[in-house]
Amino acid sequence: MLEGSVAIITGGTRGIGLEIVRLFKENKAEVILFGSKEETVSKAIAQLKSEGINVNGYYPNLNNYEEVGQIIKEIVVKYGHIDILINNAGISANKKIEDTTSTDFSKIMDLNVNAIFNMTKAVVPFMKENKGGVILNTSSMVSIYGQPSGVGYPASKFAVNGLTKSLARELAPFNIRVNAVAPGVTKTDMISSLPKEQIDPIIQSIPLGRIAEPRDIANAFLFLASDMANYITGNILSVDGAARS
Ligand code: NAD
Repeated sequence: MLEGSVAIITGGTRGIGLEIVRLFKENKAEVILFGSKEETVSKAIAQLKSEGINVNGYYPNLNNYEEVGQIIKEIVVKYGHIDILINNAGISANKKIEDTTSTDFSKIMDLNVNAIFNMTKAVVPFMKENKGGVILNTSSMVSIYGQPSGVGYPASKFAVNGLTKSLARELAPFNIRVNAVAPGVTKTDMISSLPKEQIDPIIQSIPLGRIAEPRDIANAFLFLASDMANYITGNILSVDGAARS
């Protein structure tokens, strides 16, 4: 479904991002994964190699626009074009507001929102030059109704939806589609620290009766990145077993 495409996936070293890397490679895309540090990027590349999958990786500071821009230029020189950008890296929070410092709040905004701005700003000129592209952001089901603690996380995902819907309108004349996937609770490191007492009631509240596997989420990214979604832009696709409220 993605033959001939070059895709960059941030937060590609584990969880949802790593599964998107696998699925995009299965569908014949050229994939470059981004992670937060050399060690985790090397580990992910080695893991994928052991599965017979070859990818390249980088670990720019996503909050440093100059650094991001330099790496994007290097990638264009090496691969010729960038067709798909997946802004997936993210961190979550669950502390009450009294225990959340302004530094905690800024840290979430920096990665979940500002990094998307930097990556997108760096990639868009090359997509325009190439007369098209696809940008997909990872939102969350908490971007619909919020969550009872850890306000920075849902606030950041509401912002992700805002970036998605606005950029879809701005970039549509250039044949660049912008959408987001809003996963429900998904089996990754992000939720592995939650105790069983917390997970079980969550599962009971999900109409489909289970949490998502990373592949469930990656499938939505594949659809939106492919030509099958040619007329879809500015959408937030919920993939959450109907657990939106
Ligand atoms: P994860 O913790 O398994 O992976 C997070 C990824 O982000 C890793 O690849 C990591 O390298 C990267 N990352 C973390 N800090 C970074 C930094 N400072 N700079 C660059 N990269 C950094 O989490 P996941 O569950 O796979 O989450 C992926 C995305 O899915 C996130 O945006 C998250 O908000 C979203 N999401 C997850 C769930 C869930 O239940 N797991 C639900 C809804 C949305």
